[in-house]
Amino acid sequence: DPEALPRAVRADFPLLARRAGDLVAYLDNAATTQKPRVVLDAMTDYYTGANSNVGRGYHRLGLESTERHEQAREGVARAIGAAQPEEVLFTAGTTAAVNLVADTAGRRVAGPGRRVVVTGMEHNSNLLPWRRLCDSTGATLTVVPAGPDGRIDADRFAAALGPDTVLVAVSHVSNVLGTVNPVREMAAAARRAGALVLVDGAQAVPHRPVDVRDLDADFYCFSGHKAYGPMGVGVLHGRRDLLAGLPPYQVGGGTVKGVAADRPVRYLDGPARWEAGTPHVAGAVGLAAALDYLRDLGWDAIRRHDRALVRHAVDVLTAVDRVRVVGDPAADPSGIVSFVVEGIHPYDVGAHLDRHGVAVRCGVHCASTFLDELGLLGTVRLSFGVYNTTAEIDLVGELLAGVRPGPWTTDHPDVRFL
Ligand code: PMP
Repeated sequence: DPEALPRAVRADFPLLARRAGDLVAYLDNAATTQKPRVVLDAMTDYYTGANSNVGRGYHRLGLESTERHEQAREGVARAIGAAQPEEVLFTAGTTAAVNLVADTAGRRVAGPGRRVVVTGMEHNSNLLPWRRLCDSTGATLTVVPAGPDGRIDADRFAAALGPDTVLVAVSHVSNVLGTVNPVREMAAAARRAGALVLVDGAQAVPHRPVDVRDLDADFYCFSGHKAYGPMGVGVLHGRRDLLAGLPPYQVGGGTVKGVAADRPVRYLDGPARWEAGTPHVAGAVGLAAALDYLRDLGWDAIRRHDRALVRHAVDVLTAVDRVRVVGDPAADPSGIVSFVVEGIHPYDVGAHLDRHGVAVRCGVHCASTFLDELGLLGTVRLSFGVYNTTAEIDLVGELLAGVRPGPWTTDHPDVRFL
């Protein structure tokens, strides 16, 4: 029953009942999810019950705050199967995590005659840090195309690696098509080539149980806000031995025990070394609460719901004249379905849906390289969360029947028609 999960959870999300009453369906969960009450409560509880700076002053509130921060780290470590909490670093999000790795591990291994390899379906946040790293170090960036079906084959990917490959960065799940990449096999291939591996799990963590030990990548990162947690906080998981050998990233308060003018600076080991300045403690607490929330809903229920909604969306969309679903989103559903309407710009489709209170994302989804490869100007993307219903998808189908070309298709002479 695809309605079982939304029936059970909708009341958990205050925004879905917002008084403006003009939001009919929120189908942009791959951009950010709404937050359940337990997450908001955990954050309020932190600010009203334990707010104080962490890892610094030795007063009771400071110790309690530090303890809550570390409990959040332990909670995240448990949720993603990390060997120890010290492998979990809190960052500002996926983008910040990728930049951290590019500027530390990346800078250490990149150089002339060396290659960094990414896939053609990467989000700009897992592409631009590597482009900049290559531009500034003289390394070469190799982009392995996703192919016409938007799928990366593990063997084809492995064949693109060589002895000169020093780092590999791949997304677990595509934010454009919802494609699930064979990241375990890709990480193993990178290891055989002697390269470091980073996996961008931003779109995976809200939709499937992730076990970083099973994946066996060097780095795994994700954002809290796409997994029902707060904005402004995310996670970088890194192997302990690997992190210990890296130069620090941002330096500042909390990263050292003491600084003396006449001695070299010695940075702390462990997470403190990577979390310079006052961290987003309430964010970490909220993120841990969000992962607990997902665990309590149960991955079987979440995966069943994703599968049912994606299949339903594919059925509904393919029945609409001139609509084409891109890729094969039902193959291994991640709650994402991208489509195009022949002859109508995706922005016009998005604007039409918005006029009826339906929120979707349209355009290139911060992945124009991928859209170019697919030969598309953009797509309209439906992305589902635990609270979405088949009725909301039916509504999209009905509204699409009435979509007409609008300003984007008439006012923009350089627009490529889909
Ligand atoms: N990678 C992927 C696959 C994403 O979908 C996103 C967000 N759209 C990001 C990275 C960047 O995440 P954030 O904006 O939270 O840093």
